[in-house]
Amino acid sequence: MRLAMPFVWDERCRAHEPRSEVWVGVSTPAVETAARIDAIRSALVEANATEIPAAPHDDGHLSAVHDREFLSYLQTAWDEWVVAGLPEDPGQDRVVPYVFAHAALTSGRRPAVPTAVWARPGYFAYDTMTLVGPGTWEAARAAVDAALTAVDLVVAGAPCAYACCRPPGHHACRACFGGSCYLNTAAVAAVALLEQVAGPVAILDIDAHHGNGTQELFFDRPDVLVGSVHVDPGAGWFPHFLGFADETGIGDGVGANRNVVLPPGTRDEEWLHAVGELAEWARLNGARALVVSLGVDAGASDPESPLQVEERGFHRAGALLGQLQLPTVLVQEGGYDLATIGRLVREVLLGVEEELA
Ligand SMILES: [Zn+2]
Repeated sequence: MRLAMPFVWDERCRAHEPRSEVWVGVSTPAVETAARIDAIRSALVEANATEIPAAPHDDGHLSAVHDREFLSYLQTAWDEWVVAGLPEDPGQDRVVPYVFAHAALTSGRRPAVPTAVWARPGYFAYDTMTLVGPGTWEAARAAVDAALTAVDLVVAGAPCAYACCRPPGHHACRACFGGSCYLNTAAVAAVALLEQVAGPVAILDIDAHHGNGTQELFFDRPDVLVGSVHVDPGAGWFPHFLGFADETGIGDGVGANRNVVLPPGTRDEEWLHAVGELAEWARLNGARALVVSLGVDAGASDPESPLQVEERGFHRAGALLGQLQLPTVLVQEGGYDLATIGRLVREVLLGVEEELA
């Protein structure tokens, strides 16, 4: 087995250590850990894939995706938490919100940015699961560099490239973060690719959860097609508030967003049918380049989703995406079973490049 596709690595992606997630008020051990990308990297090295170090990129494409105020908050959130003494009193060693700027609170008017350091996270975060620590910004920013380096490789002529990075990004919105995501790496990659091709870029998201951040970022745009296959939020799954099939875009973006929702327990054939449907939709809409939000938490053994896809299903999903014959950048999203995550990612990549060769 040899994987010809290069993968991009940045050691700084390991720096983010959320330690825990606060779920229904209870602190539970974090599942989005550096061990995830370590396991993927091992599986790729085992397949003799070439590792490319991430190159630094300026903030141009990042600023096209996220609000400046949001970026500067994420960059300084940990430092201001420390300066305010919160790790000592009350003894919280990660940035975590306790109040939220709920839209109904201000009847739709823009809320004030809180002056209290302990209230500020609730202006920018939408859940209590996505904590900020000393290495969070460094890792999230490195993931952006990794994704942009993968774009560079494809622009330079590689048929496809994979960014082996974390934290994931598809739940991050223009001005708020959550779902273990801080910066929307796939969206940044798409914006960068858009400058290189004459026509729309498609982002196809095969993570088990709806890519709500990516959807909202491009909801009114016809030039970035966003398709996501995921477990039905209406069956009780994150992101709960959106991700339904009737969300198809607004304004100029009508028809440029597509959600395929699946019931818990869905297995290979139905999942692959959905992946094929998204690929065909991207083709019919004239996509000229592809970004894959590559989550593998639809895997049968993954603890974070009820989808039941087997290893060979991931290989076939890769083939369906490769059959589009587009310049392809794959960016890592979810996947939490450390025993299988490396193999599942590798199978997708092998499936893609078999068809793209
Ligand atoms: Zn996921």
